[in-house]
Amino acid sequence: MPLIVQKFGGTSVGTPERIQHVATKIKKHVENGEQIVVVVSAMSGETNRLTELAKSMGELPPTPREFDVLLSTGEQVTIALLSMALHQIGIQARSYTGSQVHILTDSAHNKARILDIDDKNIRADLDLGKVVVVAGFQGIDEFNNITTLGRGGSDTTAVALAAALKADECQIYTDVDGVYTTDPRVVPQARRLERITFEEMLEMASLGSKVLQIRAVEFAGKYNVPLRVLSSFEEGEGTLISYDIDDKDKEMESALISGIAFNRDEAKVTITGVPDKPGIAYQILDCISDKNIEVDMIIQNISADGTTDLTFTVHRNDYEQSMKILNDASEKFGSKEVKGDNKIVKISLVGVGMRSHAGIASQMFKVFADEGINIAMISTSEIKISVVVEEKYLELGVRALHESFGLEQNYFK
Ligand code: ADP
Ligand code: ASP
Ligand code: MG
Repeated sequence: MPLIVQKFGGTSVGTPERIQHVATKIKKHVENGEQIVVVVSAMSGETNRLTELAKSMGELPPTPREFDVLLSTGEQVTIALLSMALHQIGIQARSYTGSQVHILTDSAHNKARILDIDDKNIRADLDLGKVVVVAGFQGIDEFNNITTLGRGGSDTTAVALAAALKADECQIYTDVDGVYTTDPRVVPQARRLERITFEEMLEMASLGSKVLQIRAVEFAGKYNVPLRVLSSFEEGEGTLISYDIDDKDKEMESALISGIAFNRDEAKVTITGVPDKPGIAYQILDCISDKNIEVDMIIQNISADGTTDLTFTVHRNDYEQSMKILNDASEKFGSKEVKGDNKIVKISLVGVGMRSHAGIASQMFKVFADEGINIAMISTSEIKISVVVEEKYLELGVRALHESFGLEQNYFK
């Protein structure tokens, strides 16, 4: 009997009617002779609503432990409702919170990592012919504290369960019918990919494509869980994320660019006129990492007069704090000025085919030049090129790139 883990995201369970629709979809799979474990998100908007509610208490930031107790309630609502909807159409189902399954995580509240899953209860229910409905995005640490896995974390719950149960496939049902060459909401001409490798998906997710949480892709790659992204609302094959590319998919192998990712959550800060001597970059970035702020791109200018400027990007939520840290430290580092901009975005071209090709970067830069878009920062790796540009150019830049690289069709060598 095939065992499938299915995850339904916030929009897919956004109303009572949609929850009932999900129940009928699950019923079809059960009637097909599949064993089903379902992971659900909170109803769409709910996690944001809870976040605002927490802020309204005035404790800023909210105590992480209590914040997790609050956030985890969103998913508790949907597991109960979906189980009821399943009962109503004659399917036996049982709901579990993360702690009831015993999804053990570390204690990093709001961004916990799954360490272990006890599959005993789930297996027992499956053996009795029940559908098991598990709350996504949450777990419990070794001290019995409720933890959450970071935004989009239900994807990771689903993949981790699929790995633990050695499921035949992990299906992520969402509001688009697969992974596209870029966000179809920004580029309507974007093309759905039939297959994408873990490596490329990992890069797309880490560069901002929110269709899958990055940790979910990491997990799926590590445990070789066949992962598929599908629509909750339409029938279709979706997109399979896997390692192997068979002959049929050879064309993918030769695709230069698999997609364009972008990230709107970016901000950049610059500390100018610091002495150009060993240890300065370390000291400045140490002040930032001391506050657990993650730094992404870093640029240091060539020094002309023995001083230099250091610019780096951080998450937009960390912008104010980063500016404050640099302003406080500027005197110590002999800086004349600290500058910042939180209206920037990062746009990235991703493709394993890039490895063996020169000229992609220059084509990318020409696209921006032709559109009159100034590039503030650049970073490259073997399989991606990222640029930072002003936020107002996001849509224009992504659409122009998509067109220039011919991503509506397959792009061959
Ligand atoms: P869910 O609530 O189901 O988890 P998300 O909003 O987290 O759904 O993820 C689905 C969304 O991801 C889509 O609605 C789409 O706007 C966005 N998205 C971003 N990049 C891509 C991409 N390359 N392919 C498909 N969807 C993408
Ligand atoms: N409800 C959480 C969120 O909105 C987790 C998820 O949906 O994956 O981020
Ligand atoms: Mg999501």
